[in-house]
Amino acid sequence: MNKQFVHFRAVLYLVGAFGLFASAAFTELVVVIVGPPGSGKGTQTTMLRDKLDWLLISPSGILREEKLKNTDLGQIRTDYRYNQDIKDRMKLAALTDKMAQEPGMKPAKGFIVDSWPKSPNGIRFAMGSVFRERDILVVELTVDDNTLIARALKRKLCTKASCGLSYGEHYTEKDKGYCDFCQSPLWQRPKDNPTDFPNRIDKYRKNVEVMKRKYKDYGIDVQSIDGSRNKNEVHEDILKIVNKHAAGI
Ligand SMILES: [Zn+2]
Repeated sequence: MNKQFVHFRAVLYLVGAFGLFASAAFTELVVVIVGPPGSGKGTQTTMLRDKLDWLLISPSGILREEKLKNTDLGQIRTDYRYNQDIKDRMKLAALTDKMAQEPGMKPAKGFIVDSWPKSPNGIRFAMGSVFRERDILVVELTVDDNTLIARALKRKLCTKASCGLSYGEHYTEKDKGYCDFCQSPLWQRPKDNPTDFPNRIDKYRKNVEVMKRKYKDYGIDVQSIDGSRNKNEVHEDILKIVNKHAAGI
């Protein structure tokens, strides 16, 4: 084998290897965590953020923060709160904007998205734009109704969207009305009450199969895990799923 040929082979090999490396490194993973209200999404998304050091985005939280700040966007959110299509478009805009602001996420990091998209239209919007060039993994937390109701009536949430800590049964001893992590005030969602809460669970259950089918149409499986266990066990399971997915297993 002459020297020039060996050199040529080496260059080809390097180009090939670099091509693979570059395509693998630049495909950001987006982990979408969904589940019924009270299933621990807030706790689990923040634990995952702290573990992986990825950006956590809560499209609903961003819009809620806008409402608390009385911005125009917050007012639109209030005016159109019963219009799923407009809400999905606003959440898509919030997510896209947040992802674009994070140049530090490249090349190999990922994003964690709290609870969006779930409706067929929302999934279609995201898959046609912000999810298109990214690798998507959806994890669903499953919890039975009684556990959900017991948890929800106790919980308080941090008002700062970029923090989003949820103070449920695990945090009651620390709960002084302010977030331990960022010192923002905590609030209880008005809709977390014994009358409305079971209806919200029903609504979730009715829509979740439609959501799974829609994701499947795009070749995305929704991985379900038992969210009724201790938060550390649930966290370990989510981490395993994320690592397996990232390794392509
Ligand atoms: Zn906070």
